[in-house]
Amino acid sequence: MLVQLKNTTRKLCVIGDPVLHSKSPIIQNAMLSTLGLDYIYLAQLVPRGQARAWLEAARTAGYAGFNATMPHKTDLVPYMDALDEDARMYRAVNTVCIKNGEFYGYNTDGQGFLQMLSDAGLSVRDMRVAVLGAGGAAGAVALKLAQQGAAAVTVCNRTPEKAAALCAAAPEILRPAGFDPPSLRRAAESADLLVNGTSLGMGGAGGQFSDFSFLEALPAGAPVCDLIYFPQETELLRRARELGHPGLNGLGMLICQAIFALEHFTGVTAERAALRKAAEDALRAEGAL
Ligand code: NAP
Repeated sequence: MLVQLKNTTRKLCVIGDPVLHSKSPIIQNAMLSTLGLDYIYLAQLVPRGQARAWLEAARTAGYAGFNATMPHKTDLVPYMDALDEDARMYRAVNTVCIKNGEFYGYNTDGQGFLQMLSDAGLSVRDMRVAVLGAGGAAGAVALKLAQQGAAAVTVCNRTPEKAAALCAAAPEILRPAGFDPPSLRRAAESADLLVNGTSLGMGGAGGQFSDFSFLEALPAGAPVCDLIYFPQETELLRRARELGHPGLNGLGMLICQAIFALEHFTGVTAERAALRKAAEDALRAEGAL
């Protein structure tokens, strides 16, 4: 992708360790270029434990802001001058704006998930949802569902303590459960929507579900959402499709959370469909889809 740099070009980046796999530079540069904004977005390796040192470096170097991925999302929180409601709820930031030397922390993951559902015509109000996983992504989804009026959310996780800790934040809505086949089946039986927030099925070393029989317990026509975006159709989504369940992959969430981050960075709100198309085209052109 050709980016025109000037002396006035403002700097943005994603920090992580590792970071070179990140799709954020492709997505953000495509959207910035579509909007004709004078910004550049880079991938910046920041070693684990160096979040505080990075903040000083970014402020000194005049960065407008940055996104954060593993392992910095929670480490950054104590150093923020202000946090938005979602960042406070997740105790994690994925977007930081630097204004007049102060750090403003946001978290756009849950909002991105919600927007992806809304773009697919799904409202979470009064929904019963089975969420598989209790890590960063699944946690953001479960808490957002509880905040937005879902009727009940069952959080199935391999490590029971993590599911219990997550569910303690909204015990009237969130219920912890195990990850063994009977627990998954019970959670699916009463779900209007099933969300996979584990890494099972992810391209590379994500591992795979040992048993998909819980899909047979899912009520007819209930959508299945996999937060994974590579491959675009995971084995879970393929099997769900064969059983007649509408499927959604994680690409919509990935792009929507990036659009909300871009709005924080630049203050510009644009038509989402055009930005989404620009991001998808760029990902395809780079062979990242
Ligand atoms: P994470 O914090 O490391 O959480 C990983 C989750 O997967 C945990 O619940 C973990 O269970 C579970 N898990 C891992 N291996 C498992 C196995 N063999 N059997 C059962 N459960 C297993 O990771 P994350 O950041 O939440 O990411 C999770 C997935 O979401 C990834 O595939 C990532 O690509 C995707 N994601 C998508 C987006 C998007 O915008 N679409 C954003 C973020 C993440 P334990 O607690 O027992 O370890």
